[in-house]
Amino acid sequence: MNISFSAEHEAFRGEVRSFLDSALDDDLRQAQKFCPGIFLDYEHNIRWHKILHAKGWIAPGWPKAHGGTGWDLTQRYIWGTETTLAGAPSVAPMGLSMCGPMLIGHGTQAQKDYYLPRILSGEDYWCQGYSEPGSGSDLASLSLRADSDGDHYVLNGSKIWTTHAHCANRMFCLVRTDDSGRPQQGITFLLLDMDTPGISVEPIVFASGTHEVNQVFFDDVRVPKANRVGKEDDGWTVAKYLLEFERGGGGGGAGYRTALGRVKALAQQIPAGTGTLDQDPGFKRRLDEADINLQAISYTEMRIHAALSKGESPGPESSIMKNLGSTMGQHLTELTVEALGMYGAPHQPQARQVGSNVAPVGPEDGIVAFSRYFNLRASSIAGGTNEVQKNIVAKLVLGL
Ligand SMILES: Cc1cc2nc3c(=O)[nH]c(=O)nc-3n(C[C@H](O)[C@H](O)[C@H](O)COP(=O)(O)OP(=O)(O)OC[C@H]3O[C@@H](n4cnc5c(N)ncnc54)[C@H](O)[C@@H]3O)c2cc1C
Repeated sequence: MNISFSAEHEAFRGEVRSFLDSALDDDLRQAQKFCPGIFLDYEHNIRWHKILHAKGWIAPGWPKAHGGTGWDLTQRYIWGTETTLAGAPSVAPMGLSMCGPMLIGHGTQAQKDYYLPRILSGEDYWCQGYSEPGSGSDLASLSLRADSDGDHYVLNGSKIWTTHAHCANRMFCLVRTDDSGRPQQGITFLLLDMDTPGISVEPIVFASGTHEVNQVFFDDVRVPKANRVGKEDDGWTVAKYLLEFERGGGGGGAGYRTALGRVKALAQQIPAGTGTLDQDPGFKRRLDEADINLQAISYTEMRIHAALSKGESPGPESSIMKNLGSTMGQHLTELTVEALGMYGAPHQPQARQVGSNVAPVGPEDGIVAFSRYFNLRASSIAGGTNEVQKNIVAKLVLGL
């Protein structure tokens, strides 16, 4: 198997590296380095978004005709890897990786013309309104009512775990327009303006102290029928199409490599017995375990990449990646907390503010160690739980 890249792709890598060198300032790098959870704060997220938009590199996955870069899959893989290795901020996926591709596939011409440029520029910031209290893994049981009233729907009910609903000015969501048939029937896909009267957003603060998710309430919210994507009662088709983008993506292996490097560097600073923690047999075994899992992730990523390059679909293998990735992320936060010992305990949110002159108590990894540890518990739930992914693998890969 030849896993090296062509000379053209290596030249592209060089171009990406030199762009990242010049475009990333200390504030952006620091914001990402000390990001306490999965999602970067809106302010730094959108600043980086606008830099990439100005360069024309904001939408590597979109077709060129709609404002994408026109890069091939290898270029996109290189981009994902290099931005991660350079410590670039992550860009929110709800508009660029979910709503945009969904509109390109299923939107009307008017919806594409209006929304796509606004996603690219960052003018519109989206949140995803799928889950409801009692409807997560079993999404088709959702019950937020949308009653027809002339050329509008009137919405009543609530959505929950809505990431960044408090920052977003738009939401794409699933609503119930008919409950007489199978649960998958009677669901409709709508685009909403978050300023519409009757919408209220209540924060849900994690044990980590961060505010990423919300519950959103709808009280007689009027939404024009022109904001529907696809046919009435056929939103499940659109929702399934969009989920393929939610679980796709690449370059994650580079992020875990960087995180593992940081745990190793930290362990080299911590005294243990007559040496340092990285030499302690128990801790070393767990570092080695992480190293082996990282190899598995990198090669699975390559395998998916090779399949995509040949025009094949990644299929249920993306569920394997989702589980490997969330387990790896959690394992690394556990090792960090363990290595830090008592230095992981102080709650010091001021020290991680960009531009702060508050010195950390102990090693700087302690600033975010516990927040990340708590925050990443959610990674095996968000985007489909590990158990649900295992069901998919059992059925579609193992044929059980
Ligand atoms: C941090 C975070 C961000 C999120 N962001 C969003 C967002 O922006 N928009 C949005 O719409 N949703 C969002 N979600 C919701 C997420 O998609 C759901 O939490 C997830 O799908 C699980 O649904 P649930 O919480 O209802 O748990 P449940 O479905 O009630 O699951 C409870 C437990 O039962 C297990 N279980 C359920 N069904 C099965 C089964 N068939 N077989 C085996 N085990 C099963 C699960 O694995 C889990 O352990 C977010 C969640 C989190 C934690």
